Amino acid sequence: MTVPAPPVRTRIAPSPTGDPHVGTAYTALFNLALARQHAGQFVLRVEDTDRERYRPESEQRVFEYLHWLGLTWDEGPDVGGPFGPYRQSERLPLYRAQGEQLVRVGQAYWCWCSRERLERIRQEQQARGEPPKYDRYCLGKTRVERAREPDFTEPPVLRLKVPDSGETSFTDLIRGEISFQNALLDDQVLLKSDGFPTYHLAVVVDDHEMRISHVMRGEEWIPSTPKHVLLYQAFGWELPAFAHLPILRNVDRSKISKRRNPWAVLPWFREQGYLPEALLNFLALMGFSIPDPSQSGETREVFGFDEVVQHFAFDRFSTTSPVFDLAKLDWLNGVYIRGLPLNELLARVTPYLEAAGYPVRGREGYLLRCLALEQERLKRLGEAPQALEFFLRDDLRYPRELLIPKGWTVEQAEEALALTRALIEPVEQLEAEPLEAAARALAAERGWKTGSYFGLLRVACTGRTAAPPLFATLAVLGRDRVLTRLCQAQELLAQPTPEAR
Ligand code: GLU
Repeated sequence: MTVPAPPVRTRIAPSPTGDPHVGTAYTALFNLALARQHAGQFVLRVEDTDRERYRPESEQRVFEYLHWLGLTWDEGPDVGGPFGPYRQSERLPLYRAQGEQLVRVGQAYWCWCSRERLERIRQEQQARGEPPKYDRYCLGKTRVERAREPDFTEPPVLRLKVPDSGETSFTDLIRGEISFQNALLDDQVLLKSDGFPTYHLAVVVDDHEMRISHVMRGEEWIPSTPKHVLLYQAFGWELPAFAHLPILRNVDRSKISKRRNPWAVLPWFREQGYLPEALLNFLALMGFSIPDPSQSGETREVFGFDEVVQHFAFDRFSTTSPVFDLAKLDWLNGVYIRGLPLNELLARVTPYLEAAGYPVRGREGYLLRCLALEQERLKRLGEAPQALEFFLRDDLRYPRELLIPKGWTVEQAEEALALTRALIEPVEQLEAEPLEAAARALAAERGWKTGSYFGLLRVACTGRTAAPPLFATLAVLGRDRVLTRLCQAQELLAQPTPEAR
């Protein structure tokens, strides 16, 4: 008889301490993919036991931004589930009971040492060049015995009794065997004096109680894992599988930090106008790759969540930290932007345009034509107001000298503008191709270099030296706008230069 494999149950366990970290989305993505691949469940558990860093609004922000990315969970504080509650602050009696159980079986002990004493021994150890560790002063003492001695405080904390010698090992599904010397591990605090569990106790109790089969998290948690393994052993519980994902790093190899890097938090990506599907693809590329069926040995960079599910395998991860290269994200975002149908692109840039003061309703048709020209160049939705500015504003501002091509006189430039107006005035509806042909003919007739002449027209009609293809742009702007702008350019040229005044 074959024993059925236990169901795959994965989880993320964010702490609501501020804006959702980009690393939360990164770990959520892979945990969800593994669960989906095995038709298992993905759990969201809120680890809110650090009361000093707790921010009440943060939990909703985590939900909101994971949803924005298209990530969903099968069990969690908002959707419920059979192993709730899914907020650690609602599970306090459970941790206490489990902690007391460890005391009964001799695997944990109460500690009444005052802060001052702990600080004193820490300094003494430091002076002797020893790693900081609790000296087990309270081990084996009853409350009454300990109370007779100095540096006694209440309520006590609960500490894990870590074995003095030997090693604690576990197999990491990405990194292989990892071992720690027990002698170097501190007698970890499990219950704090405020009655709350520490992360270590709560995470082990909950992963066990919630039947988590795979604990997949960032590599920064590797040093905590031996403590967790010791706790599982102390409880006599079966270990889950562990996998530590490579941590995200900046291009300069520094850790992505909320203090230094605005891109450490998810709201930043939405503000900048990254598409959630592009960000998710980018996060999936961090340390993970999927094969390209058309080229053996090659990997593919543009793929969706379904393909992560399909190809998820622990041996597809690298252990070296991926570089969180925003230039690459810009490139990828551009790929996704170019893949959007135009009306979808308009819907996506609408909030950015409106926030910049450009109303969208009532001029969707014009905006669609403008966007068709910019879609190719747009890297972030947030660039749209700036990219479309010259389509949407009539008061273009640019330096007068841009209107005078190199080697031209002011009079020549004025003449070119006047002749272009004459060319356009009789045309009702500007169209790129005939317009270009007429402009080229004019340039040939007058002996102007097209590069110089077209450059002048571009500045006059867009205020810029670089813009989408010129005649297509003029066609979208339309006859009236183009004529107005050519007039304005002539007026600007007619103004005396500052030196001439
Ligand atoms: N609460 C931890 C965090 O904020 C969870 C770590 C884990 O996944 O065990 O990331």
